[in-house]
Amino acid sequence: PQEAEVEALQHADVARLLPVPGAESDKYRRGVVGIAAGSARYPGAAVLAVAGALRGGAGAVRYVGPAGEAVLARFPETLVSDKGPGKAGRVQAWVVGPGAGDDAATVAEVLEADVPVLLDADGLRLADREAVRTRTAPTLMTPHAGEAAALLGVSREEVEGSRLSAVRELAARYRATVLLKGSTTLVADPEARTPVRVNATGTSWLATAGSGDVLSGLSGSLLASGLAARDAGSVAAYLHGLAGRYAADGAPVGAQDVAEGIVRAWRDVRE
Ligand code: AMP
Ligand code: MG
Repeated sequence: PQEAEVEALQHADVARLLPVPGAESDKYRRGVVGIAAGSARYPGAAVLAVAGALRGGAGAVRYVGPAGEAVLARFPETLVSDKGPGKAGRVQAWVVGPGAGDDAATVAEVLEADVPVLLDADGLRLADREAVRTRTAPTLMTPHAGEAAALLGVSREEVEGSRLSAVRELAARYRATVLLKGSTTLVADPEARTPVRVNATGTSWLATAGSGDVLSGLSGSLLASGLAARDAGSVAAYLHGLAGRYAADGAPVGAQDVAEGIVRAWRDVRE
């Protein structure tokens, strides 16, 4: 029989996948997520990615980049490093790109790390395709339709008109797991036989600046906790969607509210 092309992500799947620290766990065993994001122009993207990462199950969040002061002012629990990603200390997964501007060197340095890497926003644009394709550790890419279109060299309308083939095509071209954002979220593995996961927990109130930065931090934290790229991406999309619903409750919200809503979403899934 032919394999299903898509599968809806279920509450029970997410409940089973959520990381829980063992009785003997410590912060390093829980996983350290590295965030290489933000710039002098966009320090807020770093703060929002850290906000998502702190609610994603990792035992510690390490930040590298020019927005360290802004990050510490909001989240004193962050480990801020003034070194580049290669020398910042051990991490189990990296998030690179939100608000990163034109810092291609940092993106290249992160791609050399032998741990899972999440590429978002400017990171998607700045990453060398061969450098992504030849990685041995997993890569998770999180474009919205516009970013996916730029990577594929087609129009945004073309991506929106055939989201399933677009997400599969990107996964194949980059040999990466790809999470395509939008009113529903699709997650495709590079192996064409694996069904594309679909998440529909979101709300259109999530269409707000910084919302994707929170998702990238959350997904990276789940990667650092040991989830496979497809699971980390789909669990993050599920929680982020629910968090948006809880935060909004029918009214407009900002991305910080969404990050705070993750805690309630997590409890809701846990029960
Ligand atoms: P970004 O465009 O990078 O800020 O990411 C936006 C986030 O909001 C992604 O997680 C999207 O899936 C989500 N989102 C945007 N628009 C909608 C919508 N109309 N319905 C549900 N979720 C949305
Ligand atoms: Mg974005």
